[in-house]
Amino acid sequence: MSSSTNEDIFKEALKEPLGAPKQLRKILDDLSRDLTDFTRSICANVNLNSNIRVIPTLTRIIEHEVEVFNRRLIGDEAITIVYERIKKRKLIIYAWYDPERKTIFIYLRLSPDEFCLSLAHELIHHCQYTCHSEICKNICEYWLNVDEGREIRITTPYNLRPHEIEAYTKDEEFCKKIKEMKGFNEIINKIKDAEAKVKYILTLMDILNA
Ligand SMILES: [Zn+2]
Ligand SMILES: [Zn+2]
Repeated sequence: MSSSTNEDIFKEALKEPLGAPKQLRKILDDLSRDLTDFTRSICANVNLNSNIRVIPTLTRIIEHEVEVFNRRLIGDEAITIVYERIKKRKLIIYAWYDPERKTIFIYLRLSPDEFCLSLAHELIHHCQYTCHSEICKNICEYWLNVDEGREIRITTPYNLRPHEIEAYTKDEEFCKKIKEMKGFNEIINKIKDAEAKVKYILTLMDILNA
């Protein structure tokens, strides 16, 4: 009885113009907390800087699309591991790391493999920007700061950026490690739950708008 009443209240609240958008924000916020906790535990495990946040997105972020803001640069067809992965549409990175805010944005609707690889890739970038020593046990060897990152982004096509070549070279290996870490299956389930909640709200919106 009471649960159906709660559902009625919930459905009623969704009819407000901000009702559903606010619910979606809450789902992302809650999942962000869990993703951040899990990611910090990975950092503790492999000696990465634990000052990191992870935010799930409803928008489908693809790193090479966010980063390739300017085609027709000298060398944008140069064949590197980055170039090959993108051309073959294999092992795509559905996330993006903001070095200024030390924040990883990651697409919500990913398979466990896509999630793991994307997270591993962005954590390598986090390492490159924050580690600057040997303590990370080989997660990264190429170091840069925010200013250098900005410079490289302007001067050098994505496929020739040293930190990208390193991240594309090492992300599969690091992903394997992450999969074996405590909490991986739990976080996958939490992502699935969040995805189901999003779907539920969007379905209700369809019904309410019909
Ligand atoms: Zn390092
Ligand atoms: Zn990258």
